[in-house]
Amino acid sequence: MKLRLPIPLLAILAGLGLSGCGPATTSQDAAKQVIIFDIDTLRADRLGCYGAERPTSPHIDRLAAESVLFEWAFAQGPNTPPSQTSILTGLYPSHHGRVFALDVLADEVVTLAEVMRDGGFVTAAFVDGGNMAAASGLNQGFEMYRSTPGGGFEVIGPRVMRWLSRHVNDDFLLLVHTYDVHSPYDPPEPHRSMFVEDRQPTTPDFEPTTDILTDVMIRARRGEQDILSSQDIDYALARYDGGVHYVDQWMGTFLEKMRRLGIYDNSTIILLSDHGEEFQEHGSVLHEKLYTTVSRIPLIIRPPGGRKTFRVPQVVESIDLMPTILEMVGVELPPTPIDGESLLPLMTGQSQGPYFALSESRFFGGRDAIASGGRHLLRSRKTGFLELYAFTDDPTELSNLQPERRDEAMALRAQLDSRRPSGERGSVEEQITDSEIIDQLKALGYLNDE
Ligand SMILES: [Zn+2]
Repeated sequence: MKLRLPIPLLAILAGLGLSGCGPATTSQDAAKQVIIFDIDTLRADRLGCYGAERPTSPHIDRLAAESVLFEWAFAQGPNTPPSQTSILTGLYPSHHGRVFALDVLADEVVTLAEVMRDGGFVTAAFVDGGNMAAASGLNQGFEMYRSTPGGGFEVIGPRVMRWLSRHVNDDFLLLVHTYDVHSPYDPPEPHRSMFVEDRQPTTPDFEPTTDILTDVMIRARRGEQDILSSQDIDYALARYDGGVHYVDQWMGTFLEKMRRLGIYDNSTIILLSDHGEEFQEHGSVLHEKLYTTVSRIPLIIRPPGGRKTFRVPQVVESIDLMPTILEMVGVELPPTPIDGESLLPLMTGQSQGPYFALSESRFFGGRDAIASGGRHLLRSRKTGFLELYAFTDDPTELSNLQPERRDEAMALRAQLDSRRPSGERGSVEEQITDSEIIDQLKALGYLNDE
């Protein structure tokens, strides 16, 4: 059942400027429109609003200037299948069960799109194939789910804008996903070379392709570390940043289209990612570890009407997005339990926490992690080995404090043990068998070890 936002909550939002900063176009009767821009593999600190030095993201920065920006949002897994599924279900990977690339999300898991569809919203998604293909089960609840493998915003963008034009008066949930910053770091010119300048790789024939980077990652798993020279990494990062700039240009186009359609101010606009990317800060590349280079994600929420930049320093989790959206649009949570919690009390300054974030990974024999109070504890499930980082001072986690701060590590380990997902483990009954989807997954660097 769809519920209108209760008056006391509306009053709280208005009183704190959550709905009152922009032109007075929002009202209780206005259409409720939620757009999630899900930029796969977008590392938070490559955006200007998260401290990047290169001018990679002028449009996203402008959006962030009238939004709530979560400085320390954590993904629940280091790669696409578990993490995207957590975003769309509000569940930890252990609970939704979809951790391998071929896993199909079980039917009984309730998704954000299902709840909103049942609440009377039009639900639509434009995604970039691979791990997001409909065969993954992530299409559950979307009345329209358009997957265009490898198309990126060049293909998806015009379709999104046509769709928006047709739905200006509808209550809707729209998911827009792209791999444009995922490897290979190969956006169209001028973005491709705009940050490369005179940088040249030193390894012969080095190109930041998925095949080459996956090979580096596999060798690093076997113990070889820092395989690429610092010049190769500089070059790869410059190309990656070019991809961020390309996506940012599209973000400018989408937001301008929304303004012209008159739906920009009414909408809840969300930008996030499912994980970051490593550039040998921890000896490897791509995304399979739980350090902040990978597990920290950008999370920007512009509520209807916008607001002055509001930066939230507490740690939050990507599973919090689903209950946050549902509370913002006044739709009840599903009766089945979900792990995330609404971020609205943080967004309105009604709560200071404490908050914590959990991540888990099947790589390296299984790892888990907890972030809380500016500390991040990473644990090997196989050996019990612990690492402790102070990520607010050391944002890429280069200095392991565990040896000298053992008491802190033990306290966090106890929290990790008490909070880590327990109870019945989610399971998947089906596996993807479609050979076209399997080829798309291989092109993204998946299935190399399964
Ligand atoms: Zn991903």
